[in-house]
Amino acid sequence: MGRKVLVLNQDYSALSICSVPKAFLLVYLSKAELVAEAEALALRTIDKEYPMPTVIRLHRYVHLPYKGVMLTRQNIFKRDGHHCQYCGTSDELTLDHVMPKSRGGKTNWDNLITACKRCNSRKGDFTPEEANMKMRHKPFKPSFIVFLREFSGVLDDSWMPFLTSKRERIYD
Ligand SMILES: [Zn+2]
Repeated sequence: MGRKVLVLNQDYSALSICSVPKAFLLVYLSKAELVAEAEALALRTIDKEYPMPTVIRLHRYVHLPYKGVMLTRQNIFKRDGHHCQYCGTSDELTLDHVMPKSRGGKTNWDNLITACKRCNSRKGDFTPEEANMKMRHKPFKPSFIVFLREFSGVLDDSWMPFLTSKRERIYD
C-alpha cells in the first residue's frame, strides 16, 4: 500500500509520516487517535470495517530531536525537481558535491546537488565558480513541512490544515 498517513504530535504539529498499517496499529493500541480518514476507503477484516486513516494524532507528546528530511539520493532529486542544476536536463542524473569531496566538501543538503553525468564529470574537482558553471539554485536543506508540501508526491488533501506555515516549527 502506497498511501501514507500524517502523524501529528499531541499539540497537533506535524511530526512525521508513516504507513497505513503502522498508523492503524498506533490507533488500535490507543497510542494515537484518528483525526482524518479517507472517504470511501476502509480497511476490511473478515467481519469488520475500519476507517482508513489519513491523519492521526499521538496521545502523548513526543520530544523527538527532529532529524529532518532524510538525506537520500531520491530526496535530493525531488528537491531539485529532477533536473540537473547546471544544464537543466533530466537525463542521467547523479549527485554532485558542490565543494568537491576531495577538497573537504561535506555530504549534506547544503553541498549536494543534482547534476547530470556530463556536467558532473565536466565539473570534476572544481567548484562551480572555478569550472565556470552556474547553478540554477543553491542547494538547501528543506524543512519537513516544506518538503511535504512542495516536493513530496504523497500529499493528501486532509493534511493541508496541519501543514500551514503557522504550525510549522523550526527543526534543527
Ligand atoms: Zn547537466
